[in-house]
Formats: sequence, structure tokens, C-alpha cells
Amino acid sequence: MKKPFYITTTLPYVNSNPHIGFALEIIRADMIARYKQSQGFDVFFNTGTDEHGAKIQQKAQEAGVSTQSYVDQYAEKFKALGGMLGLSSDINFIRTTDTHHVAAAQEFWRQCKERGFIYKKNYSVKYCIGCELEKTESELTEGMCPLHPNMELERISEENYFFAFSKFQKQLLDLYSANPDFVVPPSRQNEIRAFVERGLDDFSISRLVSKMSWGIAVPDDAEHVMYVWFDALVNYISAIGWPTDMKKFNRFAIDTGGMIQYCGKDNLRQQAAMWQAMLCAVGLPNSKQIVIDGFITGAGGVKMSKSLGNTIEPTEILKEYDKDVLRYYMAREIHPFEDSEFTMEKFKASYNANLANGLGNLVSRVLKMAETYGVRIPEALLGAGDTENHINNYPIIRESLDTYRLDRALDEIWKMIGEADAFVQKNEPFKKIKIDKEGAEADVAHLLASVFTIANLLEIFLPDTAEKIKTAIREGKALSVPLFMRKA
Ligand SMILES: [Zn+2]
Repeated sequence: MKKPFYITTTLPYVNSNPHIGFALEIIRADMIARYKQSQGFDVFFNTGTDEHGAKIQQKAQEAGVSTQSYVDQYAEKFKALGGMLGLSSDINFIRTTDTHHVAAAQEFWRQCKERGFIYKKNYSVKYCIGCELEKTESELTEGMCPLHPNMELERISEENYFFAFSKFQKQLLDLYSANPDFVVPPSRQNEIRAFVERGLDDFSISRLVSKMSWGIAVPDDAEHVMYVWFDALVNYISAIGWPTDMKKFNRFAIDTGGMIQYCGKDNLRQQAAMWQAMLCAVGLPNSKQIVIDGFITGAGGVKMSKSLGNTIEPTEILKEYDKDVLRYYMAREIHPFEDSEFTMEKFKASYNANLANGLGNLVSRVLKMAETYGVRIPEALLGAGDTENHINNYPIIRESLDTYRLDRALDEIWKMIGEADAFVQKNEPFKKIKIDKEGAEADVAHLLASVFTIANLLEIFLPDTAEKIKTAIREGKALSVPLFMRKA
């Protein structure tokens, strides 16, 4: 039986169209999922939509539609991303309004409460609707949320249920100590450790139905619904069957050694501390690793925002470029962990240099020579061409993937592209063919084998492109159109 592997993205909140930061997160998670699949793992790859909370209810009201039809419409948009971004076809898509998830969140609540980690108290706090999070004074800049400086903070004063986060300080610190790479990169682990060391405040996990009804009902209390974060985090285990399908749950939450979670840096606290404490509260195993992406910023490192008009939606890019181009850029040109600037100028420059030239140019030249000179790749090579063997032959690529350095893995592949180019320059088989036919054919056979290896290695990153190259090699044909047209 195959070994299990579980990887999940966060669930985007459906108050706007899919943004570039989420495309980054899910494309990278997809590459790791495909890598593990290529290594023979039974991969459970989870994503979906986070559909409760005040902000969604408000947006639906503004749009003049029912909240349910509002979230349905957005869930479809996010689902459609799968095909648009070339994600593995067997990706699991969970919606936090799914019946199974709702029941799981309620069971999770019940178990937390039974174990004494949920209690009721009066609550007065400032709340940012933009973040859907409470804000303490120390988190505010000039009295405003630094992420939403144009949004008025709400003052909430009511009786709420609380989660006893403060009781988990030691368990969280022990978790980080026992697993030095629990959070990747290490700087983020230091950040969350420092946060936990400062002491934890219990947080509110319910809202009054009279004020906000769009949430999962709190068990045995008709006056409250769950706070959106509390319910949404439970998706990582409801997606793998908890609490009804424990066989599936044990396979992906325990036999795997824990789930791998990809998320943005604004999610560090929720994923690496709050969620882990919640798992401890009901006696479930912690995640294995939390991988933290930086932010994609606009020109000059400015945060992307609607009000500044510098946001870029992945769907806009995909109108002009193939999905593999976006995948390439997200994996190699955006830093794996730090903030990276994104502009369409940079995007185009990288496309022209590395895909239209670079890869595209090499493949065109080699396939053209092979067709013209009648050179075919040996059957034996074609047969041996599965991705697993190819990746295992390149320890640097493997190590890079095992440490989420997709950029380094691609650097290594592009080094091979450069070497093949240099081989063409040095040996000039297109000249040699006139004086040394056998020698030229041997050169082209060598190049064809290199291109075939490159295509195999690219499979988890640029699946469509890899398939096009391999098909052309199998058929012994030159490309009728370039893989990537140069953009003016
Ligand atoms: Zn905010």
C-alpha cells in the first residue's frame, strides 16, 4: 500500500476574486503535491473556501443577494482556478458550508467544551472587519489596523464564548522545541515562538446571532454562532473525514506524521499557534509543518490593495499568458519565503528570457535538428522516463523540493538548459552534419536525451509544457508552433 501524504493550503475567504497571493500559495502546494505523487505517495491535497463571517454577510447585503448565493458564486470562481492554474485533477475542494464540515466543527466545539477549554465571559474589544480579527492596542497603528488603515474598527461588547488559548503556552513551546523546522522558514518559527513566549490571551470564538447570523450554530446555545476562524480551521481535519471516517483521518493525520500546511505570512499566528492549540485541546495530533510564503507586493514593495489600484488578479495574467508561465514565475521568480515585488514588466522580461528563449528556444532547435536528420530517441530511454527516477537522479533537486525551495530546483533545471545550449554552441551539429554525419547525429541524440530529461524534471512544475515536449520527442517531430512565443 502506498504511503500517505497530506498537504493543504489555507482556505481563501470569499469576499473578493482570487488574488495573486492565493495563486502563489496553491501553485506551490500543487508542485509539492505532484512531487510527492511522483515519489509514489498517496497524496491528499486540500483546498477550498472559507465562507462564514461578518464580512461575507456584509458583502452579500451590499451586492443585494442572499448570503448563500453569494458564497455559491464565489466557491465556483475558486473551484475554476483548479483548471486555470493547472492543479492536480484530484485536488479536494472543501467548503466550510458543507454539511459534513458544519457537523465536524460542532463536534470539535463539543469536545473542546467537554475538556474544559471553552467558557463564556463578557467581552469588549476592538475588531477589524477587514481581517476578521480582534485587535489589541499593540497591534494598531495610530488607532487603526495597519492592514486596513481605511476601515473603521468595530467596538464589540457582549457575552461571548472563549477558547482557553492561554492554557497551551507550554504545549506550543514544547512543540516548537521538539520540531525545529515545524515552521518554515526558521525566522518565522522564531517569530511565533516569541509570540507564544510573551503569553497567550484567550480568544473569543462566538458571535451573537442577533448581530451576526452567518456562522455555524454553537451546539446547545441558539443565541451564538461560531467565530469564523474557529470553524474554518477545523476544515483541515474535516476534509480528511474527522470525526466520522476515522480510518481516513488516521491515515492522513497520523500515518503521514502530520499535515503539511502552506500559508501566507499573515496566517502565521492562526496556523502555527491557534490551530495547534485547538488540536491539543481535543487531543488530536499536531500538524507536521507550516510553510510560510511572503507577500507579493506591487512596484517598490508597496502592499497590493484595491484602493491603490495595484492589485493583479491571476485571471488577468492568464488572459495573456499560458498557465505554465504563471506557474514558472510563482515557483522560481517569487522568493520562497520573503516578500517579492511583482510587476507585469518583470513578468514579461522573465518570460522572454527564460521561457521564450531559454527553454523554448532550446527545445525548438533540438527537435528541429532531430527531425531534419532523422534522429530518434532510443526506446529504452523513453521507457525509463518516469519522473520519480529523474528527480531521484538529481539530489540537489530532491533536497530543494524537500525543503520547499522550488526556486532552487528550477535553478538546477535551468542550469541543465544552459549546459545543453552551450553544447550546441560548442559542437555546432548543424555545421558538423555536412562533414561528419555520424558525429552530428550523435550530438543530436545526446541533446534529445537531455531535453527529454529536462521535460521529465519539469513535469511537476510545468505539466502541460512537459507533456508537449515529451509527445513531440515520442513522435519524432519538430514543434509546429514554439512552446512560448516571444512577447514584444
Ligand atoms: Zn485589518
